[in-house]
Amino acid sequence: MFSFLLQKFAGRHHRKYVEKCRPIVARINEFEQSYQALTEDQLRAKTVEFRARVAQGEKLDAILPEAFAAVKNAARRMVGREVIVCDHQLTWDMVHFDVQLIGGITLHEGRIAEMATGEGKTLVATLPLYLNALTGKNAQLVTVNDYLARRDSEWMGHLYSFLGLTVGCIQQQMHSEVRREMYGRDITYGTASEFGFDYLRDNGMATRKEDQVQRDHFYCIVDEIDSILVDEARTPLIISGPAPIEREQPFTRLRPGVEALVSAQLRFINRLVKEASDMLEKKDATADEKHTAAMKMLQVKLGMPKNKLLLRLQETPEWRKLLDKTDVEMHSDFNKEELYKWKEELYFVIDEKNHQADLTEVGRKQLRPDDPDAFVLPDLATAFIDIEKETTKTPEEKEAAKREAQQKYEVVSEDIHALSQLLRAYSLYERDVEYVVQDGKVVIVDENTGRIMSGRRWSDGLHQAVEAKENVTIERETRTYATVTIQNYFRMYEKLSGMTGTAETEATEFHEIYRLSVTQIPTNKPSVRIDKNDSIFKTRRDKYGAVVKQIQEAQQRGQPVLVGTVTVEQSEVLSRMLKRAGVIHTVLNAKFHQQEAEIVTRAGHRGSVTIATNMAGRGTDIKLGEGVRELGGLLVVGTERHESRRIDRQLRGRCSRQGDPGMTKFFLSLEDDLMRLFLQGNLASRIMEGAMNEGEELEHPWLNRSIESAQKKVEQQNFSIRKRLLQYDDVLNKQREVIYGIRNGALHTERPKDIIFEMIEEEVASRLESAGFDEKGGAGSANVESLVGWLNAHFPVSAKVEEFSGRRGFDALLKDVVERIKQAYALKESVEDQAALGGLERYIVINAIDHHWQEHLTEMEELRRSIGLRSYGQKDPLSEYKGEAFRFFEELMNNVRLQICTSLFRSATNRDAFENLFAILSRSARLQGPASAPTALAAASQAAAPAEGDAAPAAPAEDIKLPSVTIRRETPKVGRNEPCPCGSGKKYKNCHGAG
Ligand code: ADP
Ligand code: MG
Repeated sequence: MFSFLLQKFAGRHHRKYVEKCRPIVARINEFEQSYQALTEDQLRAKTVEFRARVAQGEKLDAILPEAFAAVKNAARRMVGREVIVCDHQLTWDMVHFDVQLIGGITLHEGRIAEMATGEGKTLVATLPLYLNALTGKNAQLVTVNDYLARRDSEWMGHLYSFLGLTVGCIQQQMHSEVRREMYGRDITYGTASEFGFDYLRDNGMATRKEDQVQRDHFYCIVDEIDSILVDEARTPLIISGPAPIEREQPFTRLRPGVEALVSAQLRFINRLVKEASDMLEKKDATADEKHTAAMKMLQVKLGMPKNKLLLRLQETPEWRKLLDKTDVEMHSDFNKEELYKWKEELYFVIDEKNHQADLTEVGRKQLRPDDPDAFVLPDLATAFIDIEKETTKTPEEKEAAKREAQQKYEVVSEDIHALSQLLRAYSLYERDVEYVVQDGKVVIVDENTGRIMSGRRWSDGLHQAVEAKENVTIERETRTYATVTIQNYFRMYEKLSGMTGTAETEATEFHEIYRLSVTQIPTNKPSVRIDKNDSIFKTRRDKYGAVVKQIQEAQQRGQPVLVGTVTVEQSEVLSRMLKRAGVIHTVLNAKFHQQEAEIVTRAGHRGSVTIATNMAGRGTDIKLGEGVRELGGLLVVGTERHESRRIDRQLRGRCSRQGDPGMTKFFLSLEDDLMRLFLQGNLASRIMEGAMNEGEELEHPWLNRSIESAQKKVEQQNFSIRKRLLQYDDVLNKQREVIYGIRNGALHTERPKDIIFEMIEEEVASRLESAGFDEKGGAGSANVESLVGWLNAHFPVSAKVEEFSGRRGFDALLKDVVERIKQAYALKESVEDQAALGGLERYIVINAIDHHWQEHLTEMEELRRSIGLRSYGQKDPLSEYKGEAFRFFEELMNNVRLQICTSLFRSATNRDAFENLFAILSRSARLQGPASAPTALAAASQAAAPAEGDAAPAAPAEDIKLPSVTIRRETPKVGRNEPCPCGSGKKYKNCHGAG
């Protein structure tokens, strides 16, 4: 009831927005009318005029009516013209409808425009893209695949160039010069992953400003935004390469054990099923016996949720009801202990909903009879205390013992993790459903589209576990060079907006994560689509039977049918059934986007039957063939409800575009995953109790609603998973902003000397602090010695202990030391190749950052993994993660600073410079006497100058031409007095920057 009211309210809220837009629409149309009198050149001159006005500070909002009118007028002038789109010729026949103008306003305002399929969103986007491109910044549009990026940019490109704007698109194989040129145009189309990867390459890998391809992150429209920000967002974008050191893989070692464990469990479970059904079939079964039988069924469910025999048992309504009831009861706190007892009879327990697998005591024993504790995480804290207590050990021995304990802990925790992943691989990941094996590789099948996702890997060792299971080569661990989630990529835009046919159900998520609100735009013509009630069958077989019958009937009449399935496997099953029934059809296996688009386009022709996984063919319009209207338009058949309502709505939306007739109907069975997992036990049982027989069909509006509420539950669960992931990613994201900020600063400034000296100053400050210098300048002499030693080891400054004995304020002291280093550097500069100095400095900064940042990324991944294990305890894993992450980050910053200090005087633009410097410095060192042996110099002379390991100079051969302006660093490095990036509110030096 409440949600019904909310819906009504929401509906009113959208109508209000639309009403608010009406006067603007009227103004646009007035302007457009007046533009009709202009010559083509005069219209084109409008673009120049608008640009000038924007440059003079006029707000885009103020120019909107005129700008939109110009676009609409251009579209009108183009009607009847032949245009080329993806090598096909077509006639331009579009002038923006009023609802499209409203959609355009919505997009300009940074909202999500929900517009049904076929409403012409491609054309809608031209309005705000044109308007926002007037600023001179890059206006971008993201499509779901490369083909659509090309198609839409070419198609709409005719309109933009009519108005004097340039448009480009990014394609997968493009080289960076071409990319750079494309981003340089006024408007750029491309996919989310291309944009995201370009961002990563620009900020994490490019070593020269000239290699960066993107201009800015100003305005972006995301087409099919739900698909990109909700479905795709689960896998982060990663640029990776082989890891430097190969580590031993526990998977191969553990596999035989796990395999034995899985077959032992299977034997046990088969026995359980038999016992349970024997007991249940007994006429005079006592209540106790029934309970035991139910518990056995539950055990099977916990041990192998997808067991075929169990599914068959559940076909008996009474038993299913019993199992569901017991399941609910046993998961209440009250029965925790009993449930635990039953679980402990299994070898391992699978949690299907949460995708987890855990070993039980029995399992541990079976796996390692000699050492059942081999897979129990040792209690490190206690072990350390015990070691400390030992009186016979020397401190060194204690240290060694601790190190050993620590190592054992790490080995065991890796093993436990690998085991859990192997169990999941064996029990929940089915070949040809979740993945396929192709050319000796395990390739993921996208659960939504059924697409083969070559190149993508499951994270966290799961992929390696599946590889072990399939006995194919376990791919080497890779190191992450750069990574960003789609969410965080898009959150960088100054203004983000999106369009899709289905956003309403995910409105909360869009709002919470992206601050995007959803506005429903009315259709141009009223929709006459008929959505039939769902038909529910007892078994899958019955369901498919009915689907085939429905398709046959439609085909006999000539009505085209689009059949949606949830997985590739289902598409194939259905295809085989249709073949047997003699129905000619096409299966969309979604491998080649262009082909896919062509097939989908033909799906509206008379008599055609098209099977497609859920989202295949998104973005291509299904036009009705001749005579199809009269037959009732396109018939859309759903073969299973998806976890998310949005995907179902997307499928329904494929018919009845622009006022066309059309009908949709879903066929379901009680064996479907969604029904099995989430339909309230009682309900399903009651339906079945209503003596549902094989082949019988059930249909009621009330059923549609309860299925929807089951979907809502799953949606919420998935949303919280995504939100959780994002909370973790936010931590890394803040760190990335800091690091990329410094890195970019180094790329964009002519001489990154300032950055280097800021780093040096910080390092020296922290050294002074740890040497014990305070505001008054006091320090113990022992500390001073090590400080002086460090200074001389890194910089040719010939520091002496005596110089630090006078009482000076901390700041004055710091200034002094840094000044000395600067003087030494000035000397170095004087002998260097001036043209190459900037490049060398840049190299020093970037090399230090990249090396340590990549290491840091790997450590962070490992941290994620170990936190997962730690969450078994009482602590909140997220705050644990945050704490550790910032300690890692602090270490990272330290390492970067240190490496910069180390490299500065050990690299040179060329060998001569290096030797000259050495000569000058050793002369000055001699003059200052032996007491201050400049060890930096010694180190430098030992270095195989000028090329030495990490600190090898870039020795840029050519003079890098840079503009004379200095671009400021976008994000400053964390200054000691600035707020700590952990968000504690404390100053960095008092928080994670505390020395
Ligand atoms: P959506 O992305 O909203 O599903 P498309 O942009 O693919 O829709 O457009 C669907 C079809 O509608 C296209 O064939 C397009 O040519 C047509 N169309 C869009 N806008 C108009 C218009 N204003 N007048 C005539 N046809 C239009
Ligand atoms: Mg579209």
